[in-house]
Amino acid sequence: MTDLHRLSVREIAEGLAQGKFSSRELTEHYLKRIAKIDAHVQSYVTVTAEQAFVQADAADALRKAGNATFLTGIPIAHKDIFCTQGIKTTAGSKILDNFISPYDATVVTKGKDAGLVTLGKVNMDEFAMGSTSESSYFGATKNPWALDHVPGGSSGGSAAAVAADLAPFATGTDTGGSIRQPASFCGLTGLKPTYGRVSRFGMIAYASSLDQGGPMARSAEDCAYLMNVMAGHDAKDSTSMEKDVDDYVANLNGTSVKGLCIGIPKQYFNVQGLDAEVKARVEESLKKLEEMGAVLVEIDLNMTDAYVPTYYLIAPAEASSNLQRFDGVRYGYRCENPVDLMDLYKRSRSEGFGKEVQRRILIGTYALSAGYYDAYYVKAQKVRRLIQQDFLKAFESVDVIAAPSAPTTAYKIGANLSPTEMYLGDIYTLAVNLAGLPAINAPVGFDKENLPVGLQLIGNYWSESQLLSVVHQYQQATDWHSKRAAIAEENA
Ligand code: GLN
Repeated sequence: MTDLHRLSVREIAEGLAQGKFSSRELTEHYLKRIAKIDAHVQSYVTVTAEQAFVQADAADALRKAGNATFLTGIPIAHKDIFCTQGIKTTAGSKILDNFISPYDATVVTKGKDAGLVTLGKVNMDEFAMGSTSESSYFGATKNPWALDHVPGGSSGGSAAAVAADLAPFATGTDTGGSIRQPASFCGLTGLKPTYGRVSRFGMIAYASSLDQGGPMARSAEDCAYLMNVMAGHDAKDSTSMEKDVDDYVANLNGTSVKGLCIGIPKQYFNVQGLDAEVKARVEESLKKLEEMGAVLVEIDLNMTDAYVPTYYLIAPAEASSNLQRFDGVRYGYRCENPVDLMDLYKRSRSEGFGKEVQRRILIGTYALSAGYYDAYYVKAQKVRRLIQQDFLKAFESVDVIAAPSAPTTAYKIGANLSPTEMYLGDIYTLAVNLAGLPAINAPVGFDKENLPVGLQLIGNYWSESQLLSVVHQYQQATDWHSKRAAIAEENA
């Protein structure tokens, strides 16, 4: 079969169950595509062909023995922020260029337990800091819809791999938008779960109170399958919640769009820098949801202006603390010929970390330093609470909140935005992480340049099933999610 990559996750699972093809054939098919097409997209940092075949054969053997579960033998790509035993894990950084983890992240273990076959590790902004994937030490990943554009970030490799049909689905992480914004830029569905729903064990930390892993795929249905694998309490992550996990697939039709109350924050649609076409596509998608029975109501989210400054204080503060461990002694890169210990620390870190990471460590260290702690960090935490309360108040009167995922479509590679311009592009995604809420991106059309536009739906705590269900029903009534970039149409 030459078009295995066009199948949805459910179709792949059914094909495997019916013996139409084996996991080995499927895996070989994807690896062939990667070998040919990824030369243009550059989504993979590491391709694990050898291990993939071992896992695929094991999956086929399980199936033969009658012990397969639904997803046994389906390939996946992991963001290179999830530790993989025996396989390089770089977090997009030179400082971890030679790091081989002695253990698997819980998300990776869960994938293995479900019988998934790891095709490889995909590119990302260095330590997940960025919105373009250009800050990766391994070079920029390209947007499959326009190769001279970025796929977004930080999970740009995950998005590009799926959008180019180089993996049926992928893991991503979202600290301030890194699942939703690349999903938006690449025409995919991506879910950022409630903080605590997915284990962070073995997921290299950026800002621990904001980081959350989640699924990226073509459709809400495909995301639901991966969410069923990823979600759940983990004793190894003290911030993961001891709370029953939904069956996200079984719940795909569980929420009625009829009567669903969607809040439209006034402030969000008057943001300076919101592209007219993005606005138009998002409004059209809301119109569609209205036709399907949803009720749209205008709401107030008064703290909107505080999102960017609050996030860009708290996230770097936590990062500066988390990244202390990369000292040239315990992990990864070490400078040559250090004259003493201080020289080793200093040079390993300044040679090993890229510019954006260094900027954030400096900002964070400053904000946490004795004389400024109260004025910056403590204050930001207080504002964070106000932002959360703003959402909770809104959820007293609406079921979900709608927003663009990003104010623009994908940027050109090398557009060289200033840090402030880049940070302002995160306006629609940051608050969700500050509040710990779940949110989803769904593709809802294209701009004049044929670049994808995304709608974001934000839910109350633990409403992942509801978000997936609403998007699933929207996707039953529309076909934006099944559009493919030209490069994905190419055969290997
Ligand atoms: N763009 C944001 C940042 O640079 C969010 C990144 C993320 O979610 N990992 O911090």
